[in-house]
Amino acid sequence: MKFISTRGVAPALNFTDTVLAGLASDGGLYVPEQLPSFSRKEIEEMAGLDYCTLAFRIIRPFVGDALTNEELKCIIERSYAGFRHSAMAPLVQTGTNEWILELFHGPTVAFKDFALQFLGQLFDHLLKKRDERMVVMGATSGDTGSAAIEGCRHCKNIDIFILHPHNRISEVQRRQMATVLSDNVFNIALEGNFDDCQNIVKASFADQTFLPDGRRLVAVNSINWARIMAQIVYYFYAALRLGAPAKTVNFSVPTGNFGDIFAGYLAREMGLPIDQLVIATNANDILHRCISENDHTPRPLVRSLSPSMDIMVSSNFERLLFDLYGKNGSAVSELLEDQKSPMHLSETALGKAREVFTSYRVDDRRTLEVIRGMHDSCSYLLDPHTAIGVEAARQVRRSMEQPMVCLSTAHPAKFPEAVASALPSNQIKLPSHMMDLFEREERMKLLPNELRAVHHYILKSLNK
Ligand SMILES: *Cc1c(COP(=O)(O)O)cnc(C)c1O
Repeated sequence: MKFISTRGVAPALNFTDTVLAGLASDGGLYVPEQLPSFSRKEIEEMAGLDYCTLAFRIIRPFVGDALTNEELKCIIERSYAGFRHSAMAPLVQTGTNEWILELFHGPTVAFKDFALQFLGQLFDHLLKKRDERMVVMGATSGDTGSAAIEGCRHCKNIDIFILHPHNRISEVQRRQMATVLSDNVFNIALEGNFDDCQNIVKASFADQTFLPDGRRLVAVNSINWARIMAQIVYYFYAALRLGAPAKTVNFSVPTGNFGDIFAGYLAREMGLPIDQLVIATNANDILHRCISENDHTPRPLVRSLSPSMDIMVSSNFERLLFDLYGKNGSAVSELLEDQKSPMHLSETALGKAREVFTSYRVDDRRTLEVIRGMHDSCSYLLDPHTAIGVEAARQVRRSMEQPMVCLSTAHPAKFPEAVASALPSNQIKLPSHMMDLFEREERMKLLPNELRAVHHYILKSLNK
C-alpha cells in the first residue's frame, strides 16, 4: 500500500517510511492512497473475535509487505499485553441504547495507550530490522507524553525526550512521566509554557543537524499515521458487540486534535455501518463552529476542565478535508495556506461532512452537571472529557433506536480535581497499578526555554 500527502506534492511512501516520517515534506499529512474495505460478509465473520485477532484483520491490509503475518501478530499481542481488562475495550450500558466504551484500561489510563503502545512496538520492530536508532521528541500538556513514554520505555532502538511546561501540568500527569526511570527515557521540564515546548520540538524537527550522524527524529503525535490506524480497531470492536453489521451503530467522541474521531470516519469508509459521528468539543470549539456554521476561525485558547481537548486548531482535520475535497492536494493547500485567517468550506464539502458529522459544544459548568447526573442515575463515574461526549450525544443524536457509543477517553482518577468539584463527597481512587504513584522516585531535567540548552542535553544523554 502507498501513502500520499494531503498537500499533493511530497512523494508517495510505503508503510514503513510513512510510520517513520511524521509530517510529509510538503507540510501535509500522510493518508493511504486507497483505503481497504470489508464486505458485509467479511464484517459478519469478525463477530466474536478477541481484540488482538480483530486488530490483526483490520491492520493487515495497511501494512503490505512491511511485516509478515507473524510479525504483525506479535507486535499487536505485545501492544495490548499490558492492558488491565481482558476485553481491552469493554462496553458499559448507561441508558437505553446508550453505551460507554471504556478506552482507559491501558498503562496510563487514557485512550492514547491504544495507539502509543502499538506505535512503540512497531518502532522497535522496524528499527531493529533496519539496524537503526532513532530519537523520539515530543511536547506534551499532559496525556500524550505519558502514553508515549509508556509506549517507548522498552524500545531498545529509541531514545525518547518529552518536554513539558514546568509546573504547568497536573501532579498525576507529571508523576506518570517522571517516575519512568528507564535508561532511554528523558523528561524535560521547560521553563516556559506548552507553546514554548512545542516551538522547540518544531524547530528541532525542521533542522536536525544537531543530532549525530545517522540519527533522526521521529514523531509520536497524532499526525503519525500508525496512531490513527490502531484506533480504527475499537470502532469495529464496539460495533460488532452491538450487532453490526446487521445493526447501524453511532459514536460520540470527545475531540481535540481530531485523531480519534477521524479513525471512526475511516471505519465507516471501510464498510462499518455508522450513521452518525458526534464531534464533542469543550469551549475550544473551532470544530463545532466549522460544522455548525462554517466558521473555522482560530480563537485564543481557553483553559477548561478537559485539558486534553484544549486546542486552537485540530491537526488531523486536514485528513478529513483531503477526502471532502476529492483527494485534491492543491485544493487542501490553498484552503490551509493561511492558518490564521478564517477558513470556509465549500458548500459541497460542508454538505458531505454533515452527512456523517454532527457537532456540539459543552462548557465546564455543564460538564460538572453531567458527571453528577451520571453518578446519580447509574452510579457511574465519568471523567470530564467523557462527560462532554455523553452530553453531546444526548443533545444531537438522530436516532434513539440505534445504539450510541460514547468513547470514554480517560479514567476519572486522572482528573481528580474536576471530579471532586462535581462530587465533593466522592473519594476517587487511583487504579491499583497506580496506587503508589505518589511514593515513587521521580527523575526529570529542568531546562531554560532555549533551543541550544535542549539540544545540548539531548546530545549528552543519547545512548550509544
Ligand atoms: C487526547 C485526548 C482527547 C482528544 O483526542 P483527539 O484524538 O486529539 O481528538 C480526548 N480526551 C482525552 C482524555 C485525551 O487524552
